[in-house]
Amino acid sequence: MTDNISGKVIVITGASSGMGEATARGLAAKGAKVALGARRLDRLEAIVKEIEAAGGEAIAVATDVAKLEDVQKLVETARQKFGRVDVIFNNAGLMPLSPLDSLKIDEWNQMIDVNVKGTLYGIAAVLPVFQEQKSGHVINVSSVYGHKTVATGAVYCATKHAVRSLSEGLRQEVKDYNVRVTVISPGAVDTELTSHITEEGLGDEVRGFVKQIAVPASTMADMVAFAVSQPANVDVNEILFRPTVQPV
Ligand code: NDP
Repeated sequence: MTDNISGKVIVITGASSGMGEATARGLAAKGAKVALGARRLDRLEAIVKEIEAAGGEAIAVATDVAKLEDVQKLVETARQKFGRVDVIFNNAGLMPLSPLDSLKIDEWNQMIDVNVKGTLYGIAAVLPVFQEQKSGHVINVSSVYGHKTVATGAVYCATKHAVRSLSEGLRQEVKDYNVRVTVISPGAVDTELTSHITEEGLGDEVRGFVKQIAVPASTMADMVAFAVSQPANVDVNEILFRPTVQPV
């Protein structure tokens, strides 16, 4: 289904790997113009080249979502290049799981900065644009862990619950200028996410579990395409998906 996707300008954070990369490739293949943000610019530029070689349109902007000015620059660069912004996919995130008594306070702060503040900065960067356009679509990434809380995931789960809560608040507030708000909550997806777990023993355990059951990152691209492709008067607010065999 390419209707309502082709020609749309879609800003994607965390586009250098995993679900952000897969969504950039998937939506560009359906005719969207994609603006890719992440810190690893070399990876973004390689993805842009491949999208362009396949006939698509894409740009790369080095972006640390923990910095408001970086996210604003990503959105502004997309607007200057493509003339408007239709969708922001606030996807950048980190999941360094650990028990609270390990006191990995730097990792707590990083999760709050990237998962929560990064999502808010994405919202802050597009809202003035959407107000002016009288249209737009914010797609935020939560998690199954934004619906459930598990041991070793207290901070990560808190950040993903926060993403759902602020998305629902946003949804209620932006009716006047015709903005859609979608939260997508994945279960286990095969990406680099678990590679950042530093807790002794836990990383290998989680990686082993995820590897056994995970669905491919392109699954997210399909979910985003579904939400974006709906008619303008249909607002898909929540999608929760898991591998069929995932118990939690
Ligand atoms: P990846 O680790 O493969 O991708 C994460 C992306 O986030 C990378 O592109 C990374 O880019 C980017 N990122 C991290 N920190 C920053 C930052 N400060 N500024 C900008 N970009 C940043 O993992 P996933 O694709 O799995 O993660 C995507 C989202 O999905 C996350 O929000 C995650 O919490 C969520 N999620 C993932 C699940 C899974 O099973 N994989 C399950 C549920 C939710 P770079 O390092 O280049 O900056």
